[in-house]
Amino acid sequence: MSAAIRIAGLSYVYPDGTPALDNITLEIEAGACVALIGPNGAGKSTLLLHLNGLLPDAPPPAGKAAVFVGGAPVDAAGLTAARRAVGLLFQDPDDQLFCPTVSEDVAFGPRQMGLEGPALEARVRETLARVGLAGYERRAPHHLSRGEKRRVCLAGVLACQPRVLAFDEPTSDLDPRGRRELKSVLAALPVTRLIATHDLEMVVELCTRAIVLDRGAVIADGPPAELLSDEPLMLAHGLETPHILRHRHPHPAVRHG
Ligand code: ADP
Ligand code: MG
Repeated sequence: MSAAIRIAGLSYVYPDGTPALDNITLEIEAGACVALIGPNGAGKSTLLLHLNGLLPDAPPPAGKAAVFVGGAPVDAAGLTAARRAVGLLFQDPDDQLFCPTVSEDVAFGPRQMGLEGPALEARVRETLARVGLAGYERRAPHHLSRGEKRRVCLAGVLACQPRVLAFDEPTSDLDPRGRRELKSVLAALPVTRLIATHDLEMVVELCTRAIVLDRGAVIADGPPAELLSDEPLMLAHGLETPHILRHRHPHPAVRHG
């Protein structure tokens, strides 16, 4: 079976000359939940944008693809299939929500894929329930909390039934409850997940693998608890060992008086 995502020697320089990705090679197995971590400017967002061909501006010609989704090249001919297979959640939900009601927003993708009538309504209803937003159909997205907006975006992407989900800093601006709710939804998704994040506690809790990116290159790749406990590695790449890994062995209870 081929990997859900295969990246083979991907480099990318923005049109203004800024280098962003430097010869990235990696594979992600189907069903995995993989974290992409690294300092600001490491290339995390740029990498995610390549998964469904939002970058480069002009897709590579046949035979030149460096990104493969389910074995199929993300090139000029494979672009439409890649956009269906990979659902991308942008860092800012306001960049993704554009309809006057939640149900219209969630219906947009599946409608483009040909779903209509009762089947479309059922898809919207089921998907909203899956992200914990049952009954939100008529709400206005711009009146929702950040956490709710994020879950509407997720519903919009899930409604297209992608095989791979790519998240760009999904918890970056959520309060603790919003984070908790989003994490439980992410944990339960039965698809391949790639999550770019600075939320290293979430990485330890949810992910089976972490990839450290810095200056556009893969620096380390392995089990989160192992990588994130490596303080020199973390510090060298603008990260830090999360609390939950520092306090694995409970301290004896402190007694007062
Ligand atoms: P991260 O998501 O890890 O913070 P990015 O992928 O956003 O990193 O950025 C990688 C590099 O590309 C950085 O040097 C950043 O400044 C640069 N970059 C990002 N977007 C653009 C753009 N649209 N034009 C030029 N340079 C960009
Ligand atoms: Mg980014």
